[in-house]
Amino acid sequence: MSARPIPLIDLQAQYARLQPQIDARLRAVLDHARFVLGPEVDALETELARLTGVRRAIGVASGTDALLIPLLAHGVGPGDAVFVPAFTFVATAGAVAMTGATPVFCDVDRATFHLDVGDMARRLKQLPSGDLRPKAVIPVDLFGLPCDYAPIRDFAAEHGLLVLADAAQSLGGARDGTPVGGLAPITAASFYPTKPLGGYGDGGAIFTDDVECANQIRTLRAHGQNPAGEFERLGLNSRLDTLQAAVLLAKLATFDADLARRAEIAARYDEVFAEHFGLQARPTGAVSANAVYSILCDDPEALGKALRGRGVGTRVYYDTPLHLMPSMRRFAAVGDPPRVSEWLSQRIISLPIYAELDDEQVEGVCAAVLDAVARK
Ligand SMILES: *Cc1c(COP(=O)(O)O)cnc(C)c1O
Repeated sequence: MSARPIPLIDLQAQYARLQPQIDARLRAVLDHARFVLGPEVDALETELARLTGVRRAIGVASGTDALLIPLLAHGVGPGDAVFVPAFTFVATAGAVAMTGATPVFCDVDRATFHLDVGDMARRLKQLPSGDLRPKAVIPVDLFGLPCDYAPIRDFAAEHGLLVLADAAQSLGGARDGTPVGGLAPITAASFYPTKPLGGYGDGGAIFTDDVECANQIRTLRAHGQNPAGEFERLGLNSRLDTLQAAVLLAKLATFDADLARRAEIAARYDEVFAEHFGLQARPTGAVSANAVYSILCDDPEALGKALRGRGVGTRVYYDTPLHLMPSMRRFAAVGDPPRVSEWLSQRIISLPIYAELDDEQVEGVCAAVLDAVARK
């Protein structure tokens, strides 16, 4: 059993590892004092575009805004239906609702936990005719595992839908050799502190190869002001802080190594837990960023309690599917309740996974989980 407690996430350990680099980057910003759209933001955007192989990366104030702004850029609003998985973080649908459009909650696949394209196709046919236009789909790379975008792209092309990838958890991942960021026409990422590439506050980025769209997004993130200085359209104040960009630049230096360590831990967990629990499938060709490591069991509450007693931090992502949340209930259900999403939300629990965990801690988590299930 583990001697030291193992928290679900340990941001202090992360800072301790990178302190000199982070402090130097922050100091430089304090010295030049260009706190909004300073040179670190440009440098980060260039680095992120290179990392993902897309033409444009645009820093914004949060992952939620990274979803909202592309929807606004494409004129999504009242009367539009946007397909989202029911099993995700609330912001995937929250961004849709903020535009005035209607989220349509689709079920997810039992193996990958990704948007089920067949289920989405059935719901599209069931939209109340005349009331809602199918307009966009937001697949979510849940827990860091990139979706299979080919069938989504085909479906979207057939029905004229925009595909906006919610890559809040998957930056650094890839599918069939294409890095996250280039898997959909437009992609949203988050730098929330607990994400695989996290800042020290809120932040996000939008990725696209469409230069015209990227220009619109730059206008929208800064009060709707275009490069000529005119306030061309209604916009937001949603710039990425220079201080956040500085932290992220420091962390980018070890990002590949951090992802490799996460993958190593996930492989060890898979090996130990496969015979005891349901696990998220890992399709060939998919490289996960391993943002979250989850297992499925009959009583996640009891397991969480038992693990807490053994010094291991856990959390449930997510115990309530979106269609059952008070803020989302006003959206009329289209079709049957998403049963797999409900089933998953009653069985799932997440374990510690981050680059700072050493082998002893990883084995400590494994032993604690196995001990907890043996004594049930
Ligand atoms: C974190 C997250 C978001 C929102 O990102 P913020 O930076 O917290 O606004 C959106 N979607 C998913 C799936 C997330 O995990």
